Amino acid sequence: MVKNIAVIRGDGIGPEIVNEALKVLDRVAELYGHTFRYTDVDMGGCAIDKYGDPLPESELKKCVESDSVLLGAVGGSKWNDLPGSMRPEKGLLRLRAGMGVYSNNRPAKIWPQLSDASPLKKSIVEQGIDFIIVRELIGGIYFGEHKTEGDTAIDVLKYNENEIERIGRIGFETAQKRNKRLCSVEKSNVLDSSRLWKKVMHRLAGEYPDVELSDMLVDNCAMQIVKNPAQFDVIVTENMFGDILSDEASMITGSIGMIPSSSLGASSCGLYEPIHGSAPDIAGQDKANPIGTILSAAMMLRFSFDMRAEADAVENAVSAYLDAGWRTADIMSEGGKLVGCRRCGELIIENIKRGRE
Ligand code: NAD
Repeated sequence: MVKNIAVIRGDGIGPEIVNEALKVLDRVAELYGHTFRYTDVDMGGCAIDKYGDPLPESELKKCVESDSVLLGAVGGSKWNDLPGSMRPEKGLLRLRAGMGVYSNNRPAKIWPQLSDASPLKKSIVEQGIDFIIVRELIGGIYFGEHKTEGDTAIDVLKYNENEIERIGRIGFETAQKRNKRLCSVEKSNVLDSSRLWKKVMHRLAGEYPDVELSDMLVDNCAMQIVKNPAQFDVIVTENMFGDILSDEASMITGSIGMIPSSSLGASSCGLYEPIHGSAPDIAGQDKANPIGTILSAAMMLRFSFDMRAEADAVENAVSAYLDAGWRTADIMSEGGKLVGCRRCGELIIENIKRGRE
């Protein structure tokens, strides 16, 4: 297959971690006979320096016209004093809106090799943590009317059936590509919007008979994520609930440098990025952990290009790297073998194998 990938290296550690992810994609292309064509896109502080704009239209166009976008991270103290509309992060918001990515998917996966990094009890971690939260990203209370009248403040929580249906479909389709269990999280014992949410999810369930749908109230879900995370495969939920639950879920897995994410809209063209920022404190020192970005590239293979074997090969290579005891500084523990960003990438690439070789 031939795929066009827009590449945003960004600022700080962005260029270092993206370089390793591109080498991983090149290795996958070589092994599986694909062609990945990369188009460089300037966004963030580097775009402000070059164009005076964190994401010029011409750069956004390259992303919208691509098959998917791989992003490192943007931002840094150099641009902190600029007005809000000119800051590097504004480029990111413009990119998400411009691409129409309404579904944010963040996996909560604990690598058994790093189980000591989780704040949860060993007995819980040992049962395994491997689920994805599918969060509605451009609707709900964050996008409703906000106003303050005297001593009263009002935020409107509004969803229509279309908005729920399109994120619901992402939830079902994500579950179809995994273990076929979808948990719909809402607050239908109190909120009308949640009762509509639940109704739409159950209507959709008829179109996905291979997926087992369950319902859970959000307060119970917050508890279950720390009590019994092994029960979850895919969680689908509205914007604010997803915001809170996905932060809770990322925390139980340990290091920020390990966690990838994807954001998808109506088309298969997605935005893939690690969840961390540009880490200016370690930029240019070959200390960054590129695994969050490498796993974001694996998500791109799985969810945008439907290259499941290829995605498995990358994830297995990361696992083999951890098995061998290699560690970047952020996940270093007793007995680990310290490596830098580039060496980490090289070792993972050496572990990428086709099929059962
Ligand atoms: P950060 O995530 O960049 O860093 C927090 C801490 O985690 C730092 O100590 C850093 O060294 C460490 N860290 C982060 N990623 C790492 C990695 N891959 N390997 C090893 N260590 C890693 O958060 P911050 O310091 O609050 O923000 C720095 C800049 O990044 C700010 O300008 C912020 O606005 C921006 N930011 C960008 C994004 C994005 O591009 N999506 C997200 C968050 C923050």
